[in-house]
Amino acid sequence: MASYLNADLHCHSVASDGTLTPEALAQRAKSAGVELWALTDHDEVSGQQRAMAAARAQGLPYLTGVEISITFAGQTVHIVGLGFDASDTRLVEGLRQTRGGRGERAREMSAQLAQAGIPGAYEGALKYVGNPELISRTHFARYLVEAGVCSDTNEVFRRFLTEGKPGYIPHRWATLGDAVDWITRAGGLAVIAHPGRYKFTPNEEYALFSEFKQHGGRGVEVVTGSHLPSEYVKYADMAMEFDLAASRGSDFHSPDESRIDLGALPYLPGQLIPIWELLSERIHH
Ligand code: AMP
Ligand code: MN
Ligand code: MN
Ligand code: MN
Repeated sequence: MASYLNADLHCHSVASDGTLTPEALAQRAKSAGVELWALTDHDEVSGQQRAMAAARAQGLPYLTGVEISITFAGQTVHIVGLGFDASDTRLVEGLRQTRGGRGERAREMSAQLAQAGIPGAYEGALKYVGNPELISRTHFARYLVEAGVCSDTNEVFRRFLTEGKPGYIPHRWATLGDAVDWITRAGGLAVIAHPGRYKFTPNEEYALFSEFKQHGGRGVEVVTGSHLPSEYVKYADMAMEFDLAASRGSDFHSPDESRIDLGALPYLPGQLIPIWELLSERIHH
């Protein structure tokens, strides 16, 4: 399969912090002209069976997916897994542990927001939660918009919930090695998600890429809804330098919030090896 495939291998459903069901996403992807799809909920694979069945009903080729939260050099980094066995015990258990701290973190976020004059944020965020094990900052952001504190979720992440701002609670996620291992040992390939979003120094970024390779990671998102066009070029170069395959995904969360819709990104640059070429045996038709 070529680079010029409308593959969308990154998006979120109600099983994490998206607003659409796996079925609605499959339908939206198909209508948008997506030719290969993966649902990649945060730290969660409970939507995979539904996504796969819905994709099959739409005649849409499907790869299993997940987006794992890890801590690297003091920052939160996301590692996407593609084409794994979603019932793999080690992966499922690792993800369950990764989700574990979210409830307590959410209560601490709420306490800090209350101190900043915004009461009831925990209860407010819960109204947007589709999966009780996955309360995230996105759900808080939706509540702060509802409460009239901010006019959209982008404003929330500028004024709250991020480092140095009210409602930010640092959290220790999985390790890079564990996340890559869980994915790889379940038969899938690990991909660095949206590298342009991290605030690493060049040395730290180099360390992330080289340690990721040493652990057996195989790909990097080059064309994503989180990158500027200049970052497509930068990470295409990094993919070549580190001999990584390239991935492409909108990171779609919601029709009301996401800047880039499913299937709406430019193609991968032609000189790269698309990650789906390494996963042809893992595609569900
Ligand atoms: P959490 O896993 O609870 O830390 O929440 C992370 C999620 O919050 C991300 O996956 C995004 O959906 C959302 N998010 C984080 N930072 C931003 C931002 N600057 N702008 C928009 N959404 C963001
Ligand atoms: Mn998200
Ligand atoms: Mn992410
Ligand atoms: Mn994402």
